Amino acid sequence: MSAAPADRPGRQGHRVHSDGHHHHLDGDPAVIPARRRAFVFDMDGVMYRGSELIAGAAEAVAAVRALGLPLYFVTNNSRETPVQLAAKLQGLGVDGGPEDVVSAVVATVEYLRQLDPAPASVLVLGGRGLADQIEAAGFRLASFEDDAPVAAVAAGCDFGLTYARLARATRALVVDRAAFIAVNTDPLLPTAGGPAPGAGAIVGALTAAAGVRPTVVGKPSAHLFTVVAQRSGVAADELVVIGDLLDADVAGANDLGATSVLVLTGATTRAEAEAARGRQRPDLTIDNLFQLPFDRLLAR
Ligand SMILES: [Mg+2]
Repeated sequence: MSAAPADRPGRQGHRVHSDGHHHHLDGDPAVIPARRRAFVFDMDGVMYRGSELIAGAAEAVAAVRALGLPLYFVTNNSRETPVQLAAKLQGLGVDGGPEDVVSAVVATVEYLRQLDPAPASVLVLGGRGLADQIEAAGFRLASFEDDAPVAAVAAGCDFGLTYARLARATRALVVDRAAFIAVNTDPLLPTAGGPAPGAGAIVGALTAAAGVRPTVVGKPSAHLFTVVAQRSGVAADELVVIGDLLDADVAGANDLGATSVLVLTGATTRAEAEAARGRQRPDLTIDNLFQLPFDRLLAR
């Protein structure tokens, strides 16, 4: 394992890497990449559990940085901004900035940007963080206080959910035929007080009422990983996705032809990993991030 570089050569690596050459690598020569790669780390269950750093996480990130390879953190979390998530990483000693965080909200904003025509207004059924990030990207937020036409509905986990808010969103989908975007479809939200309804439950209510299915942006959908691939300048099948969930991280990576690495520091047991089939079967299962086999992952 290479030592964490003081001058963050990984940031330079983002630029160096795009020409396909690795002039400035200062990693162990034995693991200098034979092929283009970008590393994608899930956050909850991979980097941290609650407010606790997971052993090996900071070291694995430092090792990727030392190799000068692109590295991103991904999460379906729609409650915190990349700035807040990066602050959490840094507080735990993980080398990551806001520009390295691709949350389902970041991917939702990218998706809205790609809509043609651009949506004139977006009704956000979600928390303040989701609405703020969409507004900060230049979109006009539709009001819940009137019936003005809506071009797009973005649904996440809405802690202020009411019948009136659901009704406004339903009208937008049925009457205005608004584009329907789900930040994620996670059915449950794990909380300190136990499981609570997640974005998927709210999206499910809208789907049932309006009879339309959303475009899902979060994991395991390809949208989020595609944003990562575009930012890092590699093809989707050159991503190495490291996560703790078979249905979100592993399936999402496998759907794109990326390399899927399951790490058993989160929500999945070894027995569940070994029983996984089809698109949920990881290419590689490791107990912790100390075991990330760079030589194997970077070999052609
Ligand atoms: Mg996770």
